[in-house]
Amino acid sequence: MALYVQKYGGTSVGTVERIEAVAEKLKTFHEAGHQLVVAVSAMSGETNRLLALAASISDTPDPREMDVLVSTGEQVTIALLAMALQKRGIKARSFTGWQVGIRTDNAFMKARIEDIDTAKMREVLDDKGIVIVAGFQGIDADNNITTLGRGGSDTTGVALAAALKADECQIYTDVDGVYTSDPRVVPLARRMEKITFEEMLEMASLGSKILQIRSVEFAGKYKVPLRVLSSFTEGNGTLITMEESSSVENPVISGIAFNRDEAKITVKGVQDVPGVASRILVPISDANIEVDMIIQNISEDGSNDFTFTVHRNDYKRAMQLLRSLASELNAREVTGTDNICKVSMVGVGMRSHAGVASRMFQTLANENINILAITTSEIKISVLIEEKYLELAVRSLHTAFGLDAEDSVAKD
Ligand code: ASP
Ligand code: MG
Repeated sequence: MALYVQKYGGTSVGTVERIEAVAEKLKTFHEAGHQLVVAVSAMSGETNRLLALAASISDTPDPREMDVLVSTGEQVTIALLAMALQKRGIKARSFTGWQVGIRTDNAFMKARIEDIDTAKMREVLDDKGIVIVAGFQGIDADNNITTLGRGGSDTTGVALAAALKADECQIYTDVDGVYTSDPRVVPLARRMEKITFEEMLEMASLGSKILQIRSVEFAGKYKVPLRVLSSFTEGNGTLITMEESSSVENPVISGIAFNRDEAKITVKGVQDVPGVASRILVPISDANIEVDMIIQNISEDGSNDFTFTVHRNDYKRAMQLLRSLASELNAREVTGTDNICKVSMVGVGMRSHAGVASRMFQTLANENINILAITTSEIKISVLIEEKYLELAVRSLHTAFGLDAEDSVAKD
């Protein structure tokens, strides 16, 4: 007998039929004697539909009213799921965020959970009922409805699991786990049995969009065992854990993530004197534009070329800003491109293995792929390359680092 918090995402509750299927699944767990608290998303497409309604009225809708609006999606799902369970003779009770006491700060549309009152949920559980909670929403100190940012139901699930000290938080979604790379790009990608929180955080922030990043941070902080599984197929999914497995056969690299949302800007021919980097980057950060990779190199005439990357959505604005600053900086030229992408290898095994970077660069060189920039951390190496080489780069690295699924290799 265990206490599980299960979270079902938008596609898992996308239609009435799917909601009935979730109810069947819950019934099996319930009959096995487990206690269940279920967090659900809005039916797929619903949050986008609500956002579009708001956009059709105003370009700058009041964030408080946005949260009143978008929190309705989840309220529909909890009621329907509770009805589907009741139809099956199971006691089920639905709760909105405020009814169950999910307290957040007052940052509308990106609120953070501060506290959860578990008393109501315990009451239902003690009475052998299933608790259904609206994901993505909470309430601030002034009783305003808040929401947790896109994908926030994952964080609701994890926070409920932390508050209830659940045995596991199970995130049911439309993929059957976390893969070594995106299977749409790398057909030989494999599902991982396990991944560490650290690795998952890197994978998530590098573009693997399975879980909301904040939910992974939360799970790591409160040591909530987290599992990603499919609500459509049977299987163990992927467990995200604190432990690093000690097996010698463990791969040095756990996964390869990539991100197409990048753009690169180069300020050419600036003076090689103190303060230049800050004079370039301060206006960028003042404009609330996040900078990712940074490189600086000296050209033959002794001046500097200063290159950095930003999110593609910020590219035009950053270019405009720097072009207007170019003369002030005495820069020769400002150039940029958004035909680039970032490929990152992630693995806690990197800490104890030398030569990962050189092997990565060699693999890319063999394919004639030019590296435009590099950054590293303890468990990650990222390179910037031209976007047209993305598939080739990710696939050849996946093979070179022994990540390819063996059964698929055998079939080839
Ligand atoms: N419904 C919200 C969204 O689409 C929250 C979630 O599904 O996690 O972002
Ligand atoms: Mg989601």
